[in-house]
Amino acid sequence: MAVERTLSIIKPDATRRNLTGKINAVFEDAGLRIVAQKRIQLTPATAGAFYEVHKERPFYNDLVSFMVSGPVVVQVLQGENAVAKNREVMGATDPKKAEAHTIRAQFAESIEANSVHGSDSLENAKNEIAFFFAGTEILP
Ligand code: ATP
Ligand code: MG
Repeated sequence: MAVERTLSIIKPDATRRNLTGKINAVFEDAGLRIVAQKRIQLTPATAGAFYEVHKERPFYNDLVSFMVSGPVVVQVLQGENAVAKNREVMGATDPKKAEAHTIRAQFAESIEANSVHGSDSLENAKNEIAFFFAGTEILP
């Protein structure tokens, strides 16, 4: 196993309910280190570009509207196997299908308002981290 970095986003449904600290505790308890973090307001242009891969999906417009509906916390998580480890602690996209104790099982409101985003491959992680952070903002 290698030390990896992955991009995480705490989504507007979670910032609205003041869950940033509780979600960060799940990451830290799982051995993931938060090596960069900022609370920002996404614009439709930024959210649309970030979710460009889903442009043809029926839920794209709603997803972009949801992602700009309040602040998000973008963060870089670092640790052994961080990409897969984060996907594991997040749980399935649909909280009804997520395993107990995962972030989405504990906190998500719906398949859309599902509290967190996490990169799904090492290559996407590199691109997504560069989308939000300069190298000088990442402090292991
Ligand atoms: P993320 O990319 O946010 O980490 P994911 O990889 O589990 O989530 P994707 O298939 O990449 O899921 O979908 C991206 C996001 O789009 C989901 O997290 C969710 O917010 C939204 N989404 C996915 N499927 C649906 C759906 N059927 N209806 C509404 N929203 C959806
Ligand atoms: Mg995804």
